[in-house]
Parts: sequence; C-alpha cells; structure tokens
Amino acid sequence: MEKRQDRLKKIKDEYDKCIDCNLCTKECLLLQRYGTSPKNILRKMMEGPIDEEMVFSCSLCGHCSKVCPKDVNFRKLFLECRRYIQENKKTFNGVDIHQRLSFSKIFSLERKGKIVFFPGCSLISENPETLMKTYKYLKEKIPSLEIMIKCCGNPTNCLGKKDEFEKRIGHLEKSFQSNEVEEVVVACQNCYMTIKKYMNIKVTSLWTLLDDIGIPEKERSWGPMVFALHDPCPTRYEHDIHESVRNILRKMNINMEEFKNNRENTLCCGAGGMASIFNPKLSLDQMKKRADEVESKWIVTYCAECVNSMKSAGKMSIHILDLIFKERVELEEEKSLIIKWKNRYEFKKDIKELQSH
Ligand code: SF4
Ligand code: SF4
Repeated sequence: MEKRQDRLKKIKDEYDKCIDCNLCTKECLLLQRYGTSPKNILRKMMEGPIDEEMVFSCSLCGHCSKVCPKDVNFRKLFLECRRYIQENKKTFNGVDIHQRLSFSKIFSLERKGKIVFFPGCSLISENPETLMKTYKYLKEKIPSLEIMIKCCGNPTNCLGKKDEFEKRIGHLEKSFQSNEVEEVVVACQNCYMTIKKYMNIKVTSLWTLLDDIGIPEKERSWGPMVFALHDPCPTRYEHDIHESVRNILRKMNINMEEFKNNRENTLCCGAGGMASIFNPKLSLDQMKKRADEVESKWIVTYCAECVNSMKSAGKMSIHILDLIFKERVELEEEKSLIIKWKNRYEFKKDIKELQSH
C-alpha cells in the first residue's frame, strides 16, 4: 500500500518541476477548471485532501505530458491518486459490474491458435455485424487465424483498482499461454496498449494488418463527402497505426480532413479514463471541444467509444470498419446498455455456430 508520505513526495516532485508555463492548460478543460494554474493545482494537491472529483475527471489522455517542457505528468499523478483513493476506500459502481460480467464465461470465448483476433468489448457491443464481416474477411486471408472474445481489463485500471487489474491481466495472459497464442491482432486502441504494455506477447494492430493484407475490393463512391479523421488518444505514440489508418482511407478514396491536433498531438474524445461516468458535464464539454476542431459534419475514427463521443457532440460519426465493410454509409443510433450486452452475447453465439459448420 502506498504511504501518504510517498504520495506527497510524488506530487512535490511534479510541483518542483512545473514552471507554470500553462502549455498543458491550453487544450485541457480539466486543468482550466480545477485551479488557477497547473502549479496551483499541484500545490492544492500537496496541501490535501485529494479532490476526488478532479482526479476521476481526468480522461488520462496524456496530452498534458506530451506538450510539457518539464516532463510533468498529470496523467500518471491522477492515476496514482485514484489508486491511493481505492486502497483507502473500497468503492463499487457500474464499471465494476461491467468488468465482472466482461470477465465471466458468459461473455468470453477462448480458442487455441498461434494467431488470434481480439476485437475487444466495445466493438462487439456496438458493431457486431461489421465485426463479423471483419472476422470472416481476416479468416479468408489468414486461414489459421482464431478469435478470442475477452476484455483487456483497462476499465479496472482506470478505476485505480491496481490489484484487481493485475489479477485480470494475469488471467488474460495465462489464457493466451494455455491456448498457445503467439500473436494477438487487436482492434481496440485500449486493448492494444494494455497488451503491449503489460504482457509478454506479440501484439499487432488490426489497422497495420489491414494496411498490409489489403481491404476488400468493391465500388466505393463518396461524392462530395468529407470525413475528418479523429485519432484516439491511447495510441497517440503509435505512428505505424496513424499512417496505416491514413493509407486505408486513401485506398478507399476518402476525402479526408485532418484535425488541428492529430496523430501524437491528438486530444481525447471526452470519454477516456471513465471521465464520462465520473464527470459527464466536463466529458460532454470535451466532446464538443474536440468535435468543433473540424468543419466536416462527418467524422471517421478507429475506436467504438470515440464514435459515440463524436455523435454526442452532434457530429455524424462512423467507425472505419463500417466504411471498409458496409455497403452504404449510414448513421447508427448509440445502443442502449441492454442492446450492447445482447450484442455481446449473440456475437459469441454466432461465432460458435459459425465454427461448428
Ligand atoms: S506544461 Fe508542464 S511546466 Fe508548463 S504549466 Fe503545464 S505542467 Fe507546468
Ligand atoms: S491527462 Fe488529459 S485530461 Fe488529464 S490532465 Fe492531462 S490533458 Fe488533462
């Protein structure tokens, strides 16, 4: 358990480094709203008590440390504060229920194979039909490819429940090992980073893979439509993914607009770090701020959560897999919680049925 003194020292180290240049504040609504300056926020944190609302409102996007000339890392600090809070006050909320269900046998599927497709929870909840087309296409190209339906445990990490998170990723790594998996093909940006950071296994992004093997050939005509490309923040430093996604859009002859803050400078869609649950108002303001960076009405992205955030901000937004695999561009309503779990249950059932033939 982290001692209070250790935590205070970490905050003081960041406080000492900060020169209050405000570069981090420019794009961060949280830093703008919770203190008169970043140094002032750090001072208040040292003086305590921890402002719980503030630390759970951070989207853990990492943009502040990207622009900081002194290597101050609010993301890391806020995550550590969440861990400290959880160690001292056990909480239980909707995210815990989501995690228990996601790790249960009802919503999981394991398959043995050297290479497995790992779609992640969000895409299955939101886009099961397109995902099924994606799986079938990958299987055509790589016949030995298997599929594993599991959660990477990132929501538990965002909650600050370190011990539970370690148990969950340990469990996931063991299932990869017992199924002799050597390579995991990942569609979700959070799963990609979690597996890359915490597990000793080769992880490949679906976007670099699709860029390599090619996308299905078909007539694609977009007329005058322009799509702005939103880069999700978890993979802000994954340059290969950024370029592969752009290559895929080029192959589809998409008219593309770049956000002012793109690639490693990207901003959070507003839903990162569970901020949408802990501070819906700030989260919605961030969604609108991000969406307003571009003129296009349409936004394309490669994260199912970001698609929903951009819709909440009033844009027409679509997942890149829908552009690749669907016959027409159509806007889908955000699904209710019940529908999302139903989709997860049925997707697993459909995969089992498909494999039994
Ligand atoms: S960018 Fe870094 S040094 Fe500048 S105010 Fe923010 S934390 Fe402090
Ligand atoms: S991680 Fe993102 S939301 Fe959190 S303080 Fe930094 S820029 Fe703001």
